[in-house]
Amino acid sequence: MNSVRVRFAPSPTGELHVGGARTALFNWLFARKHKGVFILRFEDTDVERNRPELIEPILESLRWLGLLWDEGPYFQSQRFSLYREWADRLLNEGKAYKCYCTPEELEQKRQRALAAKQKPLYDGRCRHLSSHDEERFIREGRQPALRLKIPESGTIVVNDAIRGRVEFDLAELDDFIILRSDGRPTYNFAVVVDDITMGITHVIRADEHLNNTPKQMLIYQAFGHPLPIFAHVPMVLAKDRSKLSKRHGATAVFEFRDRGILPEALVNYLARLGWSYGNQEIFSREELIEKFSLEAVHPSAAIFDEEKLLWLNQHYLKTSDPKDLSELVRPFLIKLGILSEAEANAVPSEKLVQMVMLFRERARTLVELAEPARYLLTDNFSYDPEAVQKFLTPEKIALLEGLAGALAAVEPFTAAEVERVTRAYLDSQGKALKDLAQPCRVALTGRTTGAGLFETMELIGRERVIARLRR
Ligand code: GLU
Repeated sequence: MNSVRVRFAPSPTGELHVGGARTALFNWLFARKHKGVFILRFEDTDVERNRPELIEPILESLRWLGLLWDEGPYFQSQRFSLYREWADRLLNEGKAYKCYCTPEELEQKRQRALAAKQKPLYDGRCRHLSSHDEERFIREGRQPALRLKIPESGTIVVNDAIRGRVEFDLAELDDFIILRSDGRPTYNFAVVVDDITMGITHVIRADEHLNNTPKQMLIYQAFGHPLPIFAHVPMVLAKDRSKLSKRHGATAVFEFRDRGILPEALVNYLARLGWSYGNQEIFSREELIEKFSLEAVHPSAAIFDEEKLLWLNQHYLKTSDPKDLSELVRPFLIKLGILSEAEANAVPSEKLVQMVMLFRERARTLVELAEPARYLLTDNFSYDPEAVQKFLTPEKIALLEGLAGALAAVEPFTAAEVERVTRAYLDSQGKALKDLAQPCRVALTGRTTGAGLFETMELIGRERVIARLRR
C-alpha cells in the first residue's frame, strides 16, 4: 500500500460535534495505525466562513481530544487559483464546457421539470452550443460557469470500504457545475482537487457524503487520476433513532468537556461508536491504534448512549493518576462558582488529591467530583430540608452537641483519630455509630449521601466540623 494519507475536512461551523469528532478520530487512528499522515483541511469555499471564531473552536476541540494533525490546516479559501487552473485543464481537454445559462433560465427549467414531476437535471444546452449563440452570450456580457461533461448513461459503482458496493445510475446525474461564473469552485470539485493534490489515499468521511461520491468519481476520471479508497462512516443517531441534535443534550465536544468528561473517555467512547472489537469496551489509545480497522466499522447507524459514556468516564476517573485528576478538578471549582480563582488556586494540592481519592469511586464526571467541595472547602452549601427534618431531631441534636465537645481537643484531626474519639463518645452515651452517623452527616454536609464519614470530617477540618455540629 502507498503510504497512507488521510484528511479530516470540516466546514468551519464554530463547533465540533460528536459525529465530526468521530470522523476525525477514525481518520487519525487509521493514519497512526498505518504510520501515515493525518491532514486537516477547512472546507471554506463559502468565504464567509473563514472566521477565527468558526475555526478556532474546532482546532481546540481536536487538540483537547489529542487528535493532532501532521499537515495543515489547509484552507480552501486560499486555494481558489488552484481550482481555477485545474478546471481550465478540463476545459482545454474538452472534458468540461462553458455554460452561459443565467440563474433565471436555470430556475425556469427547474420549475418546469418539477411541474412535470421530473428530477430537475441540467438539459445540456450549452454542451452543444453553436458558436453563433456563444458569441451572442459573450456580447451580452454573460460570465460562463464550467460544467463537467459526464457520460449520458451507465452506472457508477462505489466500492466502499464500509458500505460495500453501492451503485448509482448515471441517468440520475447531470453535467454539474465545477466552477461557478464568479470563479468559485463547487464543493465536489474543490474536494477532489484537494484530495488529488494532497495525495489522499483514503477518504474516510460521514455517510451523508456518499451521494457526492459518484460526482467526485467522475471528476477523478476526467483527470485520469486513480481513485482513493472511500469509506463512509454511518450516522450517529439519538436513542430514539432520530438524528442526534441539541434537544438530546450535549452534542459538541466542548459541551462534554464542560460537563467534566475526560478526553480519554470521549475518545474511547467515540471509537466504539460504530466500530467494535469483540466485546471489549475499554481501549487505551495505543490499543485503539493497534486494533482499529475500517473493515470492523459497522455499516448501520450508531446510537449515542450517554449512560455508556458516563460509565466509561467513571472508569477513567477511577484509573487516572490522582494528582493529574486533582488538577483537572481545580478549574471546575471556579467554573461551578464554588471558589474564586484566587481561592481555587490556593487550595493545597494534597487536599485536592485527598478529595479526589475520596469521591472518585462514585463520581461520574469532573463536575460530580468537584461538587462536594462546596461543603468540604466552603460553608456555602444548602441543607436538604427533608434530611434535616428526618435526622436532626432534638435527641440527636443533643448528641451532636456532645460530640462537638468531644472532638474539640482531637489532635491530629485525622479520620482515624476522629473515628476513635467519636466511638468512645458514643460508647459513653450508650449509643452506637449507627445512631449518629446519618444525623452527623446531615449536620456536616446537608445531605444523606457522600463518602466515608470520618474521611469527610478530616477534609472539612476541625473548626468547621465543630461549628456545624453546634449549629
Ligand atoms: N466538509 C465536509 C463536511 O464537513 C466533509 C467533506 C469530506 O470529507 O469530503 O461534512
